[in-house]
Amino acid sequence: MSIDETIREKIARFLEEVNSPVSVRDIISFLGIEPGREKEVYEHLSHIAKTIRRKSSGRKILYMIPPRCSSCGYVFTKLEKPHKPSRCPRCKSYRIEPPLFYISSNK
Ligand SMILES: [Zn+2]
Repeated sequence: MSIDETIREKIARFLEEVNSPVSVRDIISFLGIEPGREKEVYEHLSHIAKTIRRKSSGRKILYMIPPRCSSCGYVFTKLEKPHKPSRCPRCKSYRIEPPLFYISSNK
């Protein structure tokens, strides 16, 4: 088992246990890793999103609440991969609320 898999499993377990959706910063503080590793955590989330359904035999799904502009309310619904956009395409603000994540049962 690689170190990456261990981190990925910790992230997946955290996302199943939280009571409300969490940001990548929340995940980083839970893991106790360097704050600069956001990109890496987003990559783990992409991977978890693709594999969790199969690993749980279709019982679990990783949900993402999309990022949103704090200034005008624009919602980034068409992200190819989970990440925090730097700027709003509508009002050009940099005040973007990051995406939030959780894992739940497939109802
Ligand atoms: Zn905006």
